[in-house]
Amino acid sequence: MNNPLILAIDTSCDDTSVAVLRGNKILSSEVSSQVEIHAKWGGVVPDIARREHEKNIPMVYEQALKKAKVNIEDIDYVASTYGPGLAIDLEVGLNFAKDLAIKNNKPFIPVNHMEGHLLSGLIGIDGKKSEEYFPALALLISGKHTEIVYVEKIGSYKKLGETLDDAVGEALDKVARMLDLGYPGGPVICEFAKKGKSGNISFTVPMKNSKDLNFSYSGLKTAALYKVKELREEGRKEKEWVYDFCRGFLDAIIESLKIKLESAIEQHNEVETLFVGGGVFNSEEILREIGKMARSYGLKFVFSEKEYRGDNSGMVGIAAYYKILRKEYLTLKEDIEKVDRNPRLSL
Ligand code: ZN
Repeated sequence: MNNPLILAIDTSCDDTSVAVLRGNKILSSEVSSQVEIHAKWGGVVPDIARREHEKNIPMVYEQALKKAKVNIEDIDYVASTYGPGLAIDLEVGLNFAKDLAIKNNKPFIPVNHMEGHLLSGLIGIDGKKSEEYFPALALLISGKHTEIVYVEKIGSYKKLGETLDDAVGEALDKVARMLDLGYPGGPVICEFAKKGKSGNISFTVPMKNSKDLNFSYSGLKTAALYKVKELREEGRKEKEWVYDFCRGFLDAIIESLKIKLESAIEQHNEVETLFVGGGVFNSEEILREIGKMARSYGLKFVFSEKEYRGDNSGMVGIAAYYKILRKEYLTLKEDIEKVDRNPRLSL
């Protein structure tokens, strides 16, 4: 089967997302976003997310089929994220997908959400061409994850470093909350940083001198909290310093990512490509800066369209597509039933 029809589902966090792919090309990608519901809490509330997933998934599924102009009978494979993510939320999409596969007698593909982020840049890229990209490194940054992965080839991964505490996206969200800038924090901090001047307010770059490839953002977050307190106590108007504050905070984040990536590239100078994925790359400046750095080392830089950088099911579909090529799927009902969610699944 050259271009199988794949139905892919992701409910690992707050978005209910269903996509249909023909081979590595997306035919439809439907999302029911809960951003507004969770915004007032300043982050995702798992119980509320589950209720929304349960309510929305049948409709999102129908829309995805309709937009792709296919019926469930036409689908060749059903795929779903089984981890990592929020346990009670993962379950909704996974169970829905398993039921579909069993009832309709389709092979089932459990997908690691992080493999989805990693391969998201290959959506729509011809499989032959994708072979030129390896070995490669990947930087995955989102609200829950910050990691550097060595990719020998598709399906063969080794995590080189990760955050020891908060993820980049989490730190951005928390600082935005301190400043009452709303949720999610990344886009608004980047927007404000554009109007600020580097060096007026600066932060120590976290883990700058650590010898490993790990990250840490909890110290930076605490430093930011103290700084906000200090500036407020000085009685200066927020609008006088908030832009410089966001500039300084973003500079420290970008610098910390670059330092670790540079050492990873120097330690693995055989790599051809840097892959990036995760919702934090929706902040264009972060994407641009990391891209510039990768190209300065002569690496190819692979990233997806904006809609596939954050959590989505298109990336689950592309990971499933490459699993089909490797013949990694389940056909027996007993095996499909056994697939359980794994909230702490790692690459
Ligand atoms: Zn994610």
